[in-house]
Parts: sequence; C-alpha cells; structure tokens
Amino acid sequence: MAFDSKRRFIAGAVCPRCSEMDKIVVYEKEGKDYRECVRCGFVDEMRFQQQVRELETRVNKTEEEKKSEVQVLQFPPLKSGDK
Ligand SMILES: [Zn+2]
Repeated sequence: MAFDSKRRFIAGAVCPRCSEMDKIVVYEKEGKDYRECVRCGFVDEMRFQQQVRELETRVNKTEEEKKSEVQVLQFPPLKSGDK
C-alpha cells in the first residue's frame, strides 16, 4: 500500500469521470489504495503492482504514476553520435 487511511489530495490529478482537476483524494482502506473524486463520487482502486501497464496508458495520473513513468521512460543521454 502506498497511502495511509488519511485522505490526501493529489495535485494536478484529473477525475476521469467529471474531468475536474484537484478533486482526487487517495487513501488506504483494508490494505488497498483507492482514489476518489470528492466532486462526483468516482472511486477507483489503485493497483500499482498488478496494473502498471494499464496505469501508464491512462490520461489522468497520480504523482506516484508520474514518478514511475519517468523512471521507465528515462534513458541516459549517452552516445549522442551513435546512430
Ligand atoms: Zn469526478
């Protein structure tokens, strides 16, 4: 689990249902991580381990998802003349 039971807002997160920004909170419940939109009531279970690929393709991303994507897409700028 990545979060505790206290709800936290995710800066810049966009709700996939109502498209409102900064309305998504994340929290842990019964050992699982959830994100919830405080505006429209959208709730989604967050499964980082099992669904990394699916999460990467989503339009809206949490800060954790952004970090993981950066790590995946980060290639060292070496061998600039190697083509
Ligand atoms: Zn919403």
